[in-house]
Amino acid sequence: MLSIVQNSDPVLRAKATEVPIADIKSARIRKILKNMTSALETQDDGVAIAAPQIGVSLRIFVVSKAVIEMPAELHKRAEMKDLRELKKRLGYLVFINPVITKLSREKEILDEGCLSVRPLYGRVKRAKKATVTAYDERGTRFTRGAAGLLAQIFQHEADHLDGVLFIDKATNLREMPR
Ligand code: ZN
Repeated sequence: MLSIVQNSDPVLRAKATEVPIADIKSARIRKILKNMTSALETQDDGVAIAAPQIGVSLRIFVVSKAVIEMPAELHKRAEMKDLRELKKRLGYLVFINPVITKLSREKEILDEGCLSVRPLYGRVKRAKKATVTAYDERGTRFTRGAAGLLAQIFQHEADHLDGVLFIDKATNLREMPR
């Protein structure tokens, strides 16, 4: 089973490199994407993962479409039991070489955790809205705007690609109640 790299690993602190456009549809990248989603599916409460979290220093993150289909439920931890099935069923949004092109001036302070910083949780100030331009797994460039949970995820995952963890920005760090 693929394990998720934990906090002390230097790969989480490196600035990840861009995927050459010509490689996006390669078997190598396809394999990395598969490994990322497989690793994410081992985590009941995880909805997004960045490549450095499986030890690959490339600018890629994926987000479960569950975030778009059922964002309200994702905030209620008690209902996360079925998330593993749901993630498999709904699939993923793929962001290769993502760049945040816009952040709203309006911010909010949100609870945040990370699959690589277990079991800590904290409060992080994030822009309410974010826009990302990236390539999908077919090599098509796209732009996606988001608010709420998805906007928070864009900012968290983009940070991973620059070697930044939420604990660098969080206040009120505490262990997640289980
Ligand atoms: Zn994370």
